[in-house]
Amino acid sequence: MPSFEDYDIKQATERQDKKIASMNNNNNNSNGNENANGHSNGNSHEHGTEHNALPIPGEGDDGPIEVPASRSSISEAAKYMHNLSMSPSMKERRGSRNSFGAALPIPRSKRQSRLSSVHYPDGDESLGRPTRPGMPPIQPSRAILASQVQSVEVEKVKKAKNMAFAFDIDGVLVHGDRLIPEGRRALEILNGDNELGIKIPHIFLTNGSGKPEQARCEQLSKILQNPVSTDQFIQSHTPMSALAEYYNTVLVVGGEGYKCREVAEQYGFKDIVVPNDIVAWDPTIAPYRVFTEEERASSRPRDFTKTNIEAILVFSDSRDYATDMQIIMDVLRSENGRLGTMAKDPVSQRVPIYFSQGDLLCPTEHWTPRMSQGAFRIGLEAMYRALTGIDLERVVYGKPETATYKYADEVLTSWMEQLHGEEKLPENIYMIGDNPASDIIGGNMYGWNTCLVRTGVFQGGENDENNPANFGVFANVLEAVQAALRKELGDDFKMHFDERINPVLHGDGADTAAII
Ligand SMILES: [Mg+2]
Repeated sequence: MPSFEDYDIKQATERQDKKIASMNNNNNNSNGNENANGHSNGNSHEHGTEHNALPIPGEGDDGPIEVPASRSSISEAAKYMHNLSMSPSMKERRGSRNSFGAALPIPRSKRQSRLSSVHYPDGDESLGRPTRPGMPPIQPSRAILASQVQSVEVEKVKKAKNMAFAFDIDGVLVHGDRLIPEGRRALEILNGDNELGIKIPHIFLTNGSGKPEQARCEQLSKILQNPVSTDQFIQSHTPMSALAEYYNTVLVVGGEGYKCREVAEQYGFKDIVVPNDIVAWDPTIAPYRVFTEEERASSRPRDFTKTNIEAILVFSDSRDYATDMQIIMDVLRSENGRLGTMAKDPVSQRVPIYFSQGDLLCPTEHWTPRMSQGAFRIGLEAMYRALTGIDLERVVYGKPETATYKYADEVLTSWMEQLHGEEKLPENIYMIGDNPASDIIGGNMYGWNTCLVRTGVFQGGENDENNPANFGVFANVLEAVQAALRKELGDDFKMHFDERINPVLHGDGADTAAII
């Protein structure tokens, strides 16, 4: 009789053989070939094909855009796990256009995204989409005066409409709920308090998450004392609204209470499951979880052995690593996302997993930064590899991922249309951020001008050594904005609108003559 060790090894070898055979089958499937024996593969063949053939919704002009991933889709856990054996990379196998690791879908345009059709319950559309974005309520005399000045200063206006800003939020404009005073002034200048009285397009691009866009914008408007519209705001999970076109039932993880369920609903996801729904259905799934009556009452349990979870979306930081990791692992190892099953082929039957951002650490009120989604993800990758012997394939959104910047272009173009009636992307875009590893590297890679400020993560010397800001390092956001405006509009550009100005005398002689 074999010893336990021998028995284990034999079982493991058989499992490994099956896995390799199954991988080979899948290789052939994606190439549209028969397997090496010239046979069809029966059920597993059909299953594999079915799962890998992720539909691409709305091919043509109206569906989401699939942006090639700039980060490898293969888990990074290996480098943190020196004591575990290596397994062959799955990368080659995922070459087809349907592979979820190779592309990050984003909405084709801001206007078509589901977010833009958010209904404001009290009928106050101006909260989310001001009719005169970036400007205080009606000021007819000033508006008339500004338009007169602008009609004289044609060249400067052209340049002002050909530039834009993308602001990181934390460490640039605010610290948590606390305003960085220069942030307010910088936004006032861009919202029209400048010599042209013109609104200079700017968007907010943050790796923050966990709240619906409108709630976050309302909160920011109050702190910054400047209007912030959802139409100029991108948080880490905003472009993930495109995934609603691909998946019906999704597991949404992270965030406070049920806020991320609310976010997913607004993005148009049809069937949203959160970990609490699963714990309420079967509390034994999370043995260390203390589940309150209130949580039970607010959850939506059902028989999850009859539900196929089609994708896992980590929207925000987990509030309970043990429960969330256990449930994610159960879903990843299940047969096509059905709890209560264990996949025969852990690769072809695995559901895709998406993370809204990849930051390892996040600065908080605590004296040293706290772990963020990146740390949670690496933990999951390590567990997955330890339990299955294979690397976890996953998709990570957020800065510095190219898809996030591409989506920012879409948002900026739409915002330009709202501000100036011209649906075009300004040529000179300035990213202002405090984190060289996300804001600056991402902006540099995307061809933007990058400004690093000293009010947040970066506390170094002249410039960051690894990811230097190409436009420079500034004490704060106001200095960065002023330097960029001077670069584009001239050293003498005034950061204040003079209400007493006489437009007739403001421009040069030729323009003045024309207006008279
Ligand atoms: Mg920041």
